[in-house]
Amino acid sequence: MSVLYADIIVDISAGNLDRVFQYKIPEPLKGTADIGTQVMIPFGRSDRMIRGFIVNITTQPDYDVSKIKDIAQVINSDLAMESQLIRLAWQIRKVYGGTMNQALKTVIPVKRQVKAKVSRYYCLTEDQEALEVYCHRLSGDKRYRARLELIRGMKDKDGLSREELLETFHVSASVIKGLVSDGILVETVTRQYRRPSGKLMDTGRAVTLNDAQAAIVRDIWEDQSHDVHLIHGITGSGKTEIYMELIARVLDEGKQAIVLIPEIALSLQTVSRFHSRFGDRVSVMNSRLSDGEKYDQYLRAKQGEVDIVVGPRSALFMPFERLGMIIIDEEHDGAYKSETTPRFHARDVAAWRAKMSGAKLILGSATPSVESYARARAGIYALHTLNVRAKAGSILPQVSVVDLREEFRQNNKKIFSRKLYAYMEEALKRGEQIILFLNRRGYAGFVSCRSCGHVFKCRHCDISLTAHRGGRLKCHYCGYEEPLPKVCPQCGSPYVAAFGMGTQKVEGMIAGEFPQARVLRLDRDSTSRKDSMDDILNRFRRHEADILVGTQMIVKGHDFPDVTVVGILAADLSMFSNDYMAAERTFQLLTQAAGRSGRDEKPGHVVIQTYNPDHYSIRCAAAQDYQEFYRQEMAYRKLLSYPPVVHMLVVLATGTNEHRVGEYITCLAGDTKDFCRQQGFEDMVIIGPADAAVPKGKDVYRKVFYVKNKKYPWMIAAREFMEKHLRASAYGRDVSLQFDMDPMSMY
Ligand code: ADP
Ligand code: ZN
Ligand code: ZN
Repeated sequence: MSVLYADIIVDISAGNLDRVFQYKIPEPLKGTADIGTQVMIPFGRSDRMIRGFIVNITTQPDYDVSKIKDIAQVINSDLAMESQLIRLAWQIRKVYGGTMNQALKTVIPVKRQVKAKVSRYYCLTEDQEALEVYCHRLSGDKRYRARLELIRGMKDKDGLSREELLETFHVSASVIKGLVSDGILVETVTRQYRRPSGKLMDTGRAVTLNDAQAAIVRDIWEDQSHDVHLIHGITGSGKTEIYMELIARVLDEGKQAIVLIPEIALSLQTVSRFHSRFGDRVSVMNSRLSDGEKYDQYLRAKQGEVDIVVGPRSALFMPFERLGMIIIDEEHDGAYKSETTPRFHARDVAAWRAKMSGAKLILGSATPSVESYARARAGIYALHTLNVRAKAGSILPQVSVVDLREEFRQNNKKIFSRKLYAYMEEALKRGEQIILFLNRRGYAGFVSCRSCGHVFKCRHCDISLTAHRGGRLKCHYCGYEEPLPKVCPQCGSPYVAAFGMGTQKVEGMIAGEFPQARVLRLDRDSTSRKDSMDDILNRFRRHEADILVGTQMIVKGHDFPDVTVVGILAADLSMFSNDYMAAERTFQLLTQAAGRSGRDEKPGHVVIQTYNPDHYSIRCAAAQDYQEFYRQEMAYRKLLSYPPVVHMLVVLATGTNEHRVGEYITCLAGDTKDFCRQQGFEDMVIIGPADAAVPKGKDVYRKVFYVKNKKYPWMIAAREFMEKHLRASAYGRDVSLQFDMDPMSMY
């Protein structure tokens, strides 16, 4: 039998996850000492016994075997939060690749050196005798005058805070310190948690669920045969109310809940709804919290002071000991996929965590990902559908598609089609509100020469530069910028122009067409300041503006009762990203954007302007027909073998020496093919290698190939082979590999 060694972390709370110590697993402990297990180990020269967690098990010792000590004992406490999170990290590493450290840092927040906000409170010792002896000893000595004055002054006081103490007696910190260490002053330290700021809104009373909502709550609650539930409910159908009712039941059972919401949908309005219902038991996470605030939330959860966390992807790792439910709203959203190694998808990791804790996982969306919908149709997830809006009188808007080519033929060169213009004019007359949606950021799109077609590109990244106000061209990938040239460097033509349009430009054009309208703009440029996204949305909700212009940020989960017109200025922009998910993303964006209109009793109009009026993603969005979209999209994925029909693994090789990167990736693709053949992995498809879509970024060359197969374990085995391959090769210094399993975009 082979000898097993365990990598052990000894102090998780210090956040030092890199430092592992290797111990031998003695024969009798084999089988019980596993990943995540708590163990006692002899530590340091004195072999003092300390507690640790096993994070990895291997047959290959990293040190001289004679120097490796034995694990002393296994502590049987599967309940420890750390055990569960370490097991989750292990699973993440197994499926998505990367190192165990990267996986651990994903699930366990690293404690930063943040100053905890504490309040200190002082009173005199109750030991009168000691006090008298002390005063007697010090009296007459000039050096202790301040101490004695303080003691005298404190005699008729119950106690003072540090601030009051310093102010009342004008003493130095060292005087207080001295008295505390002499046991005369008793210090009480209480930790103050930083609370995320933000004024919460009153969102009204709780509603009574309608029959459809109540039936779904009952089905989910009573269903014993599914771990995962998908709620497919149109925008405004009352999914959030269902989540809250389910959470209330979870809390009734003494359990806890995690609610994931994509960051940009995490508006004050959404948070306030949870707060009005559950009060201080709710903790809110978002990336705008300071490190200190984040760590405080983590501690509050660990100490059982909160029962619900609402937040983006990372909230999935809240250390809840009694987790009863995980909810993922807008489950189709790309933000649930991590963009750094390990590139995990929150939906899958949530399913693993839910299973470990015996919790239910609820996914909700108006436009479920084809992946989730396929699983629901296969019976892996339970499917629940809501077809009507929850609010009485609120109906789905009327959607029209306008062909921009036809507008051009009719000599309308404006960004508003005649139809959209007419709706806008009417709405403004009636004092209603308008949202204009543009899937592009910045002042304008990429810049090209109208005569020869030359496109201006970043000299470091080989991607197109974007025009910004002030006549500058910027690279959004690396930040490089240069002035917009007057003539084309290729052919000398002066017709160098920005292509497409940006939110700032649209803002300017509205001013030209509707000078009386008040306009607000919401995009990444206008929201970089903390809280300004909520500011802008609140001002719009209070009707301080008539028109809101924005990027995808405005289409998520916001409720604006006075909006009756939604204009999608150019629906095509999301389809040109050379990406297998482009149609799905376009359909989702259009459907969600359309859902912003007519949320109250007023009828809504949605105008989709496009150069591709016949594309199924646009036709189905206009018809609000998810089923038909799903059917066509799955047919396309089947035809071209894309997820969810197969699993797809991106293998990305990078390095500053283009030749070395190219040489290695060619060799790796060939060897991987051979490996799969030897293993008997059938139908393993390897596509590439080729340059990545961004072939060079920040002077690093990027090359890719894709591996496709239906079987998850084979994909994992292939990836593990590749990880070993690089370690065993002579290319380790020049090339690094990254993996992305079931990517949300092409590379
Ligand atoms: P979704 O999450 O599906 O977009 P919400 O839960 O936000 O839907 O509900 C949309 C609107 O309808 C909200 O203003 C909500 O308060 C209201 N609503 C939801 N359910 C009911 C109900 N049963 N009765 C009355 N109003 C409801
Ligand atoms: Zn030119
Ligand atoms: Zn660049």
